[in-house]
Amino acid sequence: MIERLCVIGVGLIGGSLARALRAAGYVGEVVGASRNAAHLQKAQDLGVIDHYDTDLASAVKDADMVLVSVPLGAMEAVFAAIQDALGPDAVVTDAGSAKASVVAAVQAATGETPAWFVPGHPIAGTEQSGVEASFPELYQGRRVILTPTEQTDAAATRKVRAMWEAAGAVVKEMEVGHHDEVLAATSHLPHMLAFALVESLARMSEQREIFEYAAGGFRDFTRIASSDPVMWRDICVANRDALLAMLKSFRGDLDDLSAAIEKRDEDRILAIFQDAKAARDAFDG
Ligand code: NAP
Repeated sequence: MIERLCVIGVGLIGGSLARALRAAGYVGEVVGASRNAAHLQKAQDLGVIDHYDTDLASAVKDADMVLVSVPLGAMEAVFAAIQDALGPDAVVTDAGSAKASVVAAVQAATGETPAWFVPGHPIAGTEQSGVEASFPELYQGRRVILTPTEQTDAAATRKVRAMWEAAGAVVKEMEVGHHDEVLAATSHLPHMLAFALVESLARMSEQREIFEYAAGGFRDFTRIASSDPVMWRDICVANRDALLAMLKSFRGDLDDLSAAIEKRDEDRILAIFQDAKAARDAFDG
C-alpha cells in the first residue's frame, strides 16, 4: 500500500497508473505535478489526482512513492528539482521508454546513482497522450520492465514491483542495456517506419489520392504515426545507438527484398513473406 503517491507528469502513463492504483485501493492520496496548472486541474476534475502543485519540490514532500512520467528530455531537470526535497524513505521510479538515458539523467542531476531510484518502463500505451486519454485498465496483463542498477536498494525495487502488480501488470527485471536493445527492435524501429512512411507519402504530390484510397492495411500499419512527436523525438535521441543499429540492420533486409523484386526472384520473395507470416501468426498465439 502506498500512502502518498506523487505523479510528476499526469498524462497517459502517469494518469493511468494513478487511476489503476485508486481502483485497486492501493493508494491513499495522489498528488500531481507538472508545468501547467490547467492540465493538473483537469486531472483533478477527472478524479485522477487529489491535489496538485506546479512546484515539483513541494509536490514530492512527504510522498513515499514518486513516479516520473514526463518525456525523456525533461527527466534530468525533474530529478534536479526534486532530489533535495525527497523524504528519507521515498522511492522514485520512472516510466521512460529508454533506460540508459534516464540513469544518466539521474546521475547528472544528483552526482551519484541513487539507491532510491528504480528505473522502469511499462510496455503499454496508446498513440494518445494527456490525462484525458488515461484509463485504469491500461496495465492489465501488460509487462512492466524494471532495470535496477547495482546501487538500487532491493527494498525499493520490491516496492515498485508491488505497485505495478497492484495496477495489474506483470513485472520483469532486465539489465539497462539489454532493455534498450530489445525496445529498439520491438517498439522504436516500428515507430520509425510508421513515421517515415506516412511523412514520405504525405510529401508526394498525389497525396490526396493516396490517402483517399488508403485501406485497412495502411490504417493498421500507420496508426502509431499519430503518437506524440515530442515523446518520439526524445526516444530517438535517448536510444540513439541501439536504434541506429536496428535501422542499419533493417535497411539491409529492405535492400534484400528490393533486390529480390528487381530480379523477379519469386522464390526469395515468397520465402521472406512466408517467414514473416509464420512469425506474425506465432506472435498472436
Ligand atoms: P503525456 O501523456 O504527454 O504526458 C506527459 C506529461 O509530462 C504531461 O502531463 C506534461 O504535463 C508533463 N511534462 C512534460 N514536460 C514536463 C516538464 N519539463 N516538467 C514536468 N512535467 C512535464 O506522455 P505519456 O505518454 O504519458 O509519456 C510519459 C512518459 O512515459 C515518457 O517518458 C514516455 O517515453 C513514457 N512511455 C510512454 C508510452 C506511451 O505509449 N505513450 C509507453 C511507455 C512509456 P504539463 O504539460 O502540464 O507539464
